[in-house]
Amino acid sequence: MISKRAQAVAPSATLKISAKAKELQRQGVSIISLSAGEPDFPTPRHVCDAAINAINEGFHGYTMNTGTPELRESISDKLQRDNSLSYDPSQIVCTNGAKQALGFSMLAMLDEGDEVIIPAPYWVSYPEMVKVAGATPVTIRTSFENNYRMSADQLEKAITDQTKAVMLCSPSNPTGTCYTAEELETLADVLRKHPQVTIISDEIYEYIVFEEDHVGILNVAPDLKDRTVLINGFSKGFAMTGWRLGYLAAPQEFADAVAKIQSQETSAPSAISQKAGEAAYRGNLDAVLEMRASFKKRRDFIYNKLSEIEGLKCFKPSGAFYVFPDISHYLGTTTDGGTSIETSTDLCLYLIEEQGLAAVPGDAFGEPNGIRLSYASSMEDLTEAIKRLEKGLKSLA
Ligand code: PLP
Repeated sequence: MISKRAQAVAPSATLKISAKAKELQRQGVSIISLSAGEPDFPTPRHVCDAAINAINEGFHGYTMNTGTPELRESISDKLQRDNSLSYDPSQIVCTNGAKQALGFSMLAMLDEGDEVIIPAPYWVSYPEMVKVAGATPVTIRTSFENNYRMSADQLEKAITDQTKAVMLCSPSNPTGTCYTAEELETLADVLRKHPQVTIISDEIYEYIVFEEDHVGILNVAPDLKDRTVLINGFSKGFAMTGWRLGYLAAPQEFADAVAKIQSQETSAPSAISQKAGEAAYRGNLDAVLEMRASFKKRRDFIYNKLSEIEGLKCFKPSGAFYVFPDISHYLGTTTDGGTSIETSTDLCLYLIEEQGLAAVPGDAFGEPNGIRLSYASSMEDLTEAIKRLEKGLKSLA
């Protein structure tokens, strides 16, 4: 009954751990969950008000498949304002979250036999989306020592005649690493030699950067615009995960192909969410900047605390709201109860079951030596989480 394609897809590990945390909480177990990928802030007031007005004013129908002209216009203006990029609204397709923009891009672009280069650690859904589209993910392993960034040399070596696309995610989920302008330039130099490769640039965490302003590949290599697909959305920057609103900006032919798929699969995102998205981009960014400042405070706190724990190597994230400590020191150990910890998944199961701390194993992100902790949580929870982590690691032998 089930297709080979569906059988080949792994369920989302992030959602699996979150579900386990919820289940244990339901049983009355005290769990601190640092597993979810969503801001713990409410959506800004003016954005909510725009949605309420949309409901009250009867804005209830289907919209244009690619999104309302007003929303696409506001996205086009935002891309100019924040990213110095010029896109006609017709090149923008609004989707049910950035996830759908990514998934439909894969379907629009990939055929069987095609390869997509994905630097690891990667966001869990990238390889699975490539598989759903019938193509093959090719991962490049980056390392703690290289700040979890793919080098030009690694990219060059991974490109074959079958390579159809490369995924870039900066700031990154799960490491919080951000490519510098210089690094993007070296990647662009490689890509110029391979005109058959499409660049998918996922910039959903662009507003959550702590040290430097966000820089995307098109800022350093505008000549690659005719084969770059820019992915973005409202979930992270505006704390709008449940509104399900994202978009892509792409060459016209690509946007039209995605629009065709969307028209047959889902149609446009919710009309009400679209009004909210328009208000987000037309309004001021005060709430976004407040959230960013708060994430930075928590980043500093959790990074400093993790760095003090014996055996952990902690990369200092410069964006998003995750830390991804290297836990390889604790692999090959045994718990008090005699269970061996061979993998990051073993470690996360132990942490949730024995210490009441939910984190996501690096295995799910293609990096077996890490675990991901989301610091989109209260300082109180972060303090308690660190205590539990430290206690749990200390008792491994
Ligand atoms: N891209 C990355 C790197 C993400 O971490 C996420 C969400 O976790 C998404 C895309 C999808 O975001 P949404 O579909 O909520 O817009």
